[in-house]
Amino acid sequence: MTDLLRSWVETANTPDTDFPLNNLPYGVFSIDGGKASCGAAIGDKILNLSALEASGRINFDGSLCTGSWNAFMALGKQEWARLREELSTFLVEGSEPQPAYLVAMADAALHMPFAVSEFTDFYAGKHHATNVGTMFRGAENALPPNWLSIPIGYNGRASSVVVSGTPIKRPHGQLKGPNDELPHFAPSSRFDIELEMGAIVGTASQGPITVAEAYDNLFGYVLLNDWSARDIQAWEYQPLGPFQAKATATSISPWIVTAAALEPFRVSTPKRERPQLNYLNEPGPMLYDIALEVALTPNGGNENIICRTNYREMYYSAAQQLAHHTTSGCPMRVGDLLGSGTISGPGKDNRGSLLEISWGGKEPFTLDSGEARSFLEDGDTVTLRGAAEGDGYRVGFGECVGTVMSA
Ligand code: CA
Repeated sequence: MTDLLRSWVETANTPDTDFPLNNLPYGVFSIDGGKASCGAAIGDKILNLSALEASGRINFDGSLCTGSWNAFMALGKQEWARLREELSTFLVEGSEPQPAYLVAMADAALHMPFAVSEFTDFYAGKHHATNVGTMFRGAENALPPNWLSIPIGYNGRASSVVVSGTPIKRPHGQLKGPNDELPHFAPSSRFDIELEMGAIVGTASQGPITVAEAYDNLFGYVLLNDWSARDIQAWEYQPLGPFQAKATATSISPWIVTAAALEPFRVSTPKRERPQLNYLNEPGPMLYDIALEVALTPNGGNENIICRTNYREMYYSAAQQLAHHTTSGCPMRVGDLLGSGTISGPGKDNRGSLLEISWGGKEPFTLDSGEARSFLEDGDTVTLRGAAEGDGYRVGFGECVGTVMSA
């Protein structure tokens, strides 16, 4: 485990900042409605990389002046490493301070850090799949027969992915209660969240790739909230899986934490209960130890932490998911986003969706105000947070926030 790397940006040297020099996550920001610029978070500041490249201090083919990270990602892994090295040298304690290239994060608006090419969402958390399966099919048949062999997923909508802070409008849809003969059309009354990590493909591939190649092709990670309308889902999901229930919005955090920054926090996926097909075997640990939490804040109320869990609970890593995604020959593109699947842990306090926390609405939970809850109400704000904990520092993701608006 490495130590805190000290920077001349003083606020980056505290143990509780999400953004020490060890992290250097990438985002896109603007000031006062101005032009969108690429930046790196450092302490409570943003290093303006568009300005750095425009001034000729760094040179990445102009990709950092585009206001999006896709062009930079397409330059490839060697350039990813070169930028990280040059920024580390620029910001390290002992280098000449250059505050002219910094802006206060508090003054900046944060935008989508990259254009999502395609969005695939997986179902790779075993505790989540077991909980949901138990609710719908009983404990005996909780995991579908394929689950321990295949990273199950579906092709989602890139157009629905939004950056943290975007308001989320409660969807309408076809709803049908257990005793209704026919469906009716109404706002969802079982609107939910899913705590996930998003993995970003930074290198395109054509045809099948190995798990090791997949690991190398992943540029970085974000927090991801897959907003889900459970009542719409229950009626529509057979036989082809989720559709409108998952198409309202998926929120991501604004800072891409790179695979390079997460390197010290690699862990293995859990022990297999069934022999795994060879093509899914990992040559080394490819999951990460990232502590995660979900906060629910009702309109005008206090923040309630409703879940604490860890990314290491996943049964399949993003590298395994990506390798599986390519087995058919499916081409992958720069900017493809892979949702991990809901990350629940073993205990009641580790459940990453309200569906699980309230056990399908049968066991409402209580907020600090005394109010009972099963699913989201209008005005609720949901905040995801995550960080890998080092020795005296943390590699954090910032926040992924969304507030529910009325239908
Ligand atoms: Ca999901």
